[in-house]
Amino acid sequence: MSPRYSRRDVLRLAGLAALAAGAAACGPGAGPAPPPSRSPSGYLTDAQQAAELVAAGARAAAAAGSFGIAGAIIDNSTGSVVHQLPNRVFRRLRATVAVSPGEIFTWDPTAHGERQLVYWYFANRHRLGLPAARDLTVVTSLDPCVMCTGALATAGFNAAVVAMDTFSGINFRGDGRFADLPEPVRTRVRDSFGYYAITGGRPYQGGDAVAFADTAITQAAYDDCESVYQSSAKAVRSARQATNTPPDRLRDPGTWKTAAPIRAAFRRSYPEAFTHRLDDFRRPDRTLRRMLERLVTDTAGADNAVAFVDPFGNVVTAAAGPHPANPAATGFMTAAQAYGRTRFALTDDKDTTGPARRSLTSPMFGTFVWLTAPDPRRTTTIEDLGGFGSTMQAAIPQRRPSAFQFYDKPHRGSVAELRQVAQALPPLYSQLVRIDPQQV
Ligand SMILES: [Zn+2]
Repeated sequence: MSPRYSRRDVLRLAGLAALAAGAAACGPGAGPAPPPSRSPSGYLTDAQQAAELVAAGARAAAAAGSFGIAGAIIDNSTGSVVHQLPNRVFRRLRATVAVSPGEIFTWDPTAHGERQLVYWYFANRHRLGLPAARDLTVVTSLDPCVMCTGALATAGFNAAVVAMDTFSGINFRGDGRFADLPEPVRTRVRDSFGYYAITGGRPYQGGDAVAFADTAITQAAYDDCESVYQSSAKAVRSARQATNTPPDRLRDPGTWKTAAPIRAAFRRSYPEAFTHRLDDFRRPDRTLRRMLERLVTDTAGADNAVAFVDPFGNVVTAAAGPHPANPAATGFMTAAQAYGRTRFALTDDKDTTGPARRSLTSPMFGTFVWLTAPDPRRTTTIEDLGGFGSTMQAAIPQRRPSAFQFYDKPHRGSVAELRQVAQALPPLYSQLVRIDPQQV
């Protein structure tokens, strides 16, 4: 049997291990880590090896300035590592634009390892002849958040988890029942997610088809994944405050002459960017509705569209979804990614960093507007609600109308049901961000 991807994987693993070694040597609280005990062929044989692999990725993510979390896709039938990705929500700005050494800045608020692996899978499965998602397992160092759970369930992956997360993890109650999720999402997650047994500790909890479900990890591997995440989260929390400039200290990028390159950059992903301004950024009008309808009409396979409105009322970006080749690429996810990545690119460029810092801020000060409320029973809705929480990242200013609005009621299910689903999500979403879907 010829080892698919093994050569590339071995090289990638070697690179990650080197990064991880560097992180362990200089990172705060990371501590000395045992070298990954992978088989030399790039194949894994048990849960312990899988846990060590994602722990190494998590250290690399933390060393790069982001959350210390990482994931890998494992082929259930061979144990081969198909692909792996670290959390990349934050990246370091280049030295010529950084205001402090190694300054981190939000790149893409949705760039969690698992969500990126799902999108990578849809972008590469035909080219690489990848197995069906149900025959693959995404191993992750930390319990998937709500967004990643929605993406994984939409794609049909199995998921294997090392460490728990009582704040934003989908299994935040720890009982593996997912009682707060709507059906049929609940059953799908219960059947496809697995929490590895710890030798001398918790028993295995989860689905039968998860890779290495019948093997265990050590308490040390669990602690490693947990502590890398905890110390990185502390570092990220203090660093990101600087990027959340309150709107009253911003220039309006829609009218400021110096912001012309900013308007041009957003028009590359959404041609109608900055062509319309709401009188009140929390009161979407008929013109914006027509803009969203046009997007749906013009996008093959799309049934919904979402716009991001900045605190000045400018329609900065919008996108329709789902993407025909990627059922997890919803309009909301695409719009949130476009705002984050475009803002990062502008801030990371010495010609535009000044105007970008003075006119763009965290999405927590703006409004996301859906053409149609997401259907409360769909896996992509779980992804959107979770993605909204991740994009806001913090307690958003609570004022009504809310930052999450829609023109039309969901195609199936009710608005009341959607609000119930949002209110029963883990604490990050229900208590910190307090997602509050409202009709325009
Ligand atoms: Zn996630």
